[in-house]
Amino acid sequence: MSDLTGAAGELTPPAAIGFIGLGQMGTPMAARLVQAGFEVKAFDLAETARKNFEAVSGVPAVAGAESACRNVTAVITMLPNGKIVREVLCGSTPKGALQEAAPGTCVIDMSSSSPIDTQALEQALQPLGFPLVDAPVSGGVKRAVDGSLAIMAGGEEAVVQRITPLLSAMGGSIFPTGPLGSGHAMKALNNYVSAAGLVAAAEAIIVGRRFGLDPEVIVDVLNASTGRNNSTEKKMKQQVLSGDFASGFAMGLMTKDLHTAADIARHAGVAAPLAEACEDLWAKADAKLGAGADHTEVYRYLAALDFQAEDNS
Ligand code: NAD
Repeated sequence: MSDLTGAAGELTPPAAIGFIGLGQMGTPMAARLVQAGFEVKAFDLAETARKNFEAVSGVPAVAGAESACRNVTAVITMLPNGKIVREVLCGSTPKGALQEAAPGTCVIDMSSSSPIDTQALEQALQPLGFPLVDAPVSGGVKRAVDGSLAIMAGGEEAVVQRITPLLSAMGGSIFPTGPLGSGHAMKALNNYVSAAGLVAAAEAIIVGRRFGLDPEVIVDVLNASTGRNNSTEKKMKQQVLSGDFASGFAMGLMTKDLHTAADIARHAGVAAPLAEACEDLWAKADAKLGAGADHTEVYRYLAALDFQAEDNS
């Protein structure tokens, strides 16, 4: 087993990798590692997720998070948030699942966690000898499947460099973003910009529709004009106008990311009124439609708003 804190080389196949969290993103990402030749010890709390991973990758899942941490060079987490990451790795039992890992095992949190939680996790892991990197991703399920995710990696430069071959098996572009937590901060800010773009496009369609414009024409014009963004190109016709609302990214996860982005601004003492407005709007949509709704259903929330009723309340 190579020690990533020492002078060992890059992390390449057939190194053993633990992978915890086999949801919409984790399953295709872990399957990419299998295809690249890594020995993957993958676990999820949900049996359906484990079975799905087995069907997709052809590799049996392991029986617990502890097994995913035993005799591996690195452990990847792809979980809903940083609090769950910490609970799985360090919780309940004195050292959580990491009690099974050898010192020097690199912990890579690819979830969209709060950078504040990540920095706190570092305080717990450093004395135990586990280097930590935050390496969240962008691109959604489609790009997780084809291995072209954008990955933003925060942490000690030498460690990020050594795990780059592992990250490259899942991502098309790897961006070292600076110290620990910077990847998670960047990810939350990216999703703020993405969410704001989605809301702006949704509002334009709702308003334009009421005015009598054809929604298909609205999207075509936006995409040929300066209003174009990722949502106008990849979500409006495909998920919203089609009525599919099945992008694979849940409302609750986007709401969490917006809370993280606004929190970063508050911690930094920076005014970010649009980020706070988005945080508030998505929290209301989440409360109305449920955390499990698809994030593109924010369109349905906006379309159902009765501004007159709100004004009178
Ligand atoms: P998901 O809800 O589909 O998957 C999360 C998985 O974690 C579930 O299978 C769940 O059973 C498992 N899990 C929860 N608690 C656990 C525990 N204690 N031990 C083991 N497994 C546990 O979520 P997802 O869409 O795959 O997202 C995962 C992370 O990636 C989130 O942080 C999300 O914000 C981020 N992300 C998602 C997307 C996307 O398009 N879905 C894109 C980029 C980033």
